[in-house]
Amino acid sequence: MGFGALVVGHAHPKLVEAVKHQVENGTLFGFESEDATKLAEVMCQRFNVDMVKFSSTGLEATSHAIRLARAYTGRRKILKFEGCYHGSHDSLLVSVKPTKARAGNPKHPTRVPASQGIPESFINETVIAPFNDLEAVNELMHENVDQVAGIILEPIPMNMGFIMPQKGFLEGLRKICDEYGCLLIFDEVKTCGKFYGGAEDAFHVKPDLKVMGKAVAGGLPLSVLAGKRPIMEQIVPGQIAHAGTFNANPLSVTAGIVTLTEILTKEKMGFVSELGNTLGKGCVEILEGVKVRATTQFLGLSGTIHFGVDRVANWRDFLEVDFGKWYTMYAAMLNRGIIPMGTGPDEQWTISVQHSKEDVEKYLEAFKEVAKEISQPSQAVPLVEAL
Ligand code: PMP
Repeated sequence: MGFGALVVGHAHPKLVEAVKHQVENGTLFGFESEDATKLAEVMCQRFNVDMVKFSSTGLEATSHAIRLARAYTGRRKILKFEGCYHGSHDSLLVSVKPTKARAGNPKHPTRVPASQGIPESFINETVIAPFNDLEAVNELMHENVDQVAGIILEPIPMNMGFIMPQKGFLEGLRKICDEYGCLLIFDEVKTCGKFYGGAEDAFHVKPDLKVMGKAVAGGLPLSVLAGKRPIMEQIVPGQIAHAGTFNANPLSVTAGIVTLTEILTKEKMGFVSELGNTLGKGCVEILEGVKVRATTQFLGLSGTIHFGVDRVANWRDFLEVDFGKWYTMYAAMLNRGIIPMGTGPDEQWTISVQHSKEDVEKYLEAFKEVAKEISQPSQAVPLVEAL
């Protein structure tokens, strides 16, 4: 399901028709269009934000978000969480998948570049915190008082599987941001397509800025920076840059409108959420039945299984996962004709509106057989991509 971008499924007929029509009518004009305004209105209402700006990829939108936070607060540093991913740009490619050997103190993680070629000055502008640990965040904010422009996070980290924010964590971050005068930024590139109104719908915490992408345009490239008016209206040419040739291009905008108004409707999102529950609960039951040690976390139409551990609340817990078992499960499901989730133990399943109850039943039937296989010892496999 395209790493969560295809909640609409493949080649949804409504999307195909709208996009075909738009291709015939022009894919790029270099002007803002009436349709872009229409999509903006749809998004403001659905995601409870005042204003939006469009770009194409999640990478662009998170980089616009932190530039805006820096300009708005007049501060330089960004606090991000170990194990969270916000796109492939220098400012936030820090401590994405650090090895234990390099990650240092779990309460006060070392800043680890996630790629070669990133200037140290970028790395030094980040503050790295452990997810689900308000005490550590408070201490780090205290150490960097008046320097942090924003705290950015995936409200449900979905680049280390699927990790639920603990009760009070998001509320606590909201309070910390208010106390320290910095912006709370939800990177909803994944979560925006997992709940009808995004993470705010699921957790009732309002950030200052939201970044959306992936599912909102049915798999076409569209990303969105959204938020409160007093902050968003600072984006003015000559003041705060937000340029891009393909920003709000007619093809992606059309896809966005049809996706949000006709395909990912409240009713359909509710239906796939129920399928998600059935799938998650089914996996838990099956694994308990064969006594495989695992933690299954799920909500809405996504979830994942972390093998060999009893809890995963942050990156350090994730590093203890039995990745060998995950790959055994993955291959065994593929052999039965089912792609169980995104490729990698740091991914999760996405159920699309084109899936049915029968599909979930088939998945669980296959998983029952697979669970027996994974109850046998598996080969240790290191995590790929770790630096
Ligand atoms: N933020 C999150 C939470 C993501 O999962 C991703 C992509 N996996 C991005 C940002 C970057 O999006 P893109 O690949 O469209 O640049």
